[in-house]
Amino acid sequence: MKVLVINCGSSSLKFQLIDSQSERCLAKGLCERIGIDGSMITYAPEGGEKEKTVTPMPDHTEAIRLVLEALTNASTGVVKSLDEIGAVGHRVVHGGEKFAQSVVITDEVLQTVEECNDLAPLHNPANLIGINACRKLMPNTPMVGVFDTAFHQTMPEEAYLYGLPFVYYEKYKIRRYGFHGTSHSYVSRRAAEVLGRNYEDLKTIVCHLGNGASISAVKNGRCVDTSMGLTPLEGLIMGTRCGDIDPAILEFLAHKEGKTIDEVMSVLNKKSGVLGLSDNLSSDFRDLEDGYHKGDANASRALKTFCYRVAKYIGAYVAAMNGVDVICFTAGVGENAGIVRTFVCEYLGYLGIALDQEANGRRGQDIVISTPDSQTTVMVIPTNEELAIARETVRLVG
Ligand code: ADP
Repeated sequence: MKVLVINCGSSSLKFQLIDSQSERCLAKGLCERIGIDGSMITYAPEGGEKEKTVTPMPDHTEAIRLVLEALTNASTGVVKSLDEIGAVGHRVVHGGEKFAQSVVITDEVLQTVEECNDLAPLHNPANLIGINACRKLMPNTPMVGVFDTAFHQTMPEEAYLYGLPFVYYEKYKIRRYGFHGTSHSYVSRRAAEVLGRNYEDLKTIVCHLGNGASISAVKNGRCVDTSMGLTPLEGLIMGTRCGDIDPAILEFLAHKEGKTIDEVMSVLNKKSGVLGLSDNLSSDFRDLEDGYHKGDANASRALKTFCYRVAKYIGAYVAAMNGVDVICFTAGVGENAGIVRTFVCEYLGYLGIALDQEANGRRGQDIVISTPDSQTTVMVIPTNEELAIARETVRLVG
């Protein structure tokens, strides 16, 4: 079956067409600036040239219409007609406590997702717009929603509750949910597969380090803790997000800088993280790595503070699981920045970890980067959220 995977944001839309038998990506692309002047679609068929077309996209329905047109285009398309697309898998950011699994999309499901909008006002409404636009253009194609939060629904109460009055959990469902679940699930499973071990027998820590970053503890195939919370702001230091801070800083900053709560939140989401720590040098780890090698103090401070936080969370999750067998690095930074893996592992001598620096220098493959005598296995596993969504889609409607 050919599955169209859609990841819809408020003004952008990423897509991939995946053949579920071969698990190859037949075509992929991106619509940007939807509803804004200068919208454009980037499209690349497997093995072909990437093409960029600037064209008006007043709304998401038009964006999806252009995606379907590109996929069926007579010269560069990869399917003859839309009938060849057997199903659509949609990424949905927040499923609250309602969705611990992927679901086939129905009117009732959409209603329930809408009830989670409160919890993810920046993401869920955009995901819903994408789903509705797709349903309009492909009314007879089955669709599946795959939630970023679902994998973490197995966390025990002591891991997901905050130290707040319990009534806020009861009234508003304020608790930790976690995100990047599709990636944490895919990577932890893949690690067991690569090692030839039984997934249900392992204690795995997955470090998903991208622009957004989170870490999870997976024991016997179930997530028992993760670093993001009610929103993706909690936990690790990220590209531009602050991660864990003393909540009293909000009030302190609002008073000192004369800012509203929305303005302070914007600082915590967009101006903090390694961008803020590096005194605005960059949120991109390629720049930080370059800066570090040139002796730049801003780059060095940001990198070291980021890595220390990752190492501290690993320690916490070793405690949560009473041990660890495998530590995996994934996503843009985790897969590419060998320096980050080295700095993090320097803190992990107590786990008997030794890195194989030659393996740590390789890229783009599932690989063990610890030495054979290392007591804990360290791996790089490139994540593939789109493939995971396609697999879930086929599992439900294939
Ligand atoms: P997201 O999906 O959260 O936007 P990604 O997982 O794609 O993020 O990660 C993007 C980040 O990965 C970039 O901002 C950059 O910091 C980092 N990155 C990408 N390529 C490299 C590289 N070759 N070396 C170091 N860091 C890299």
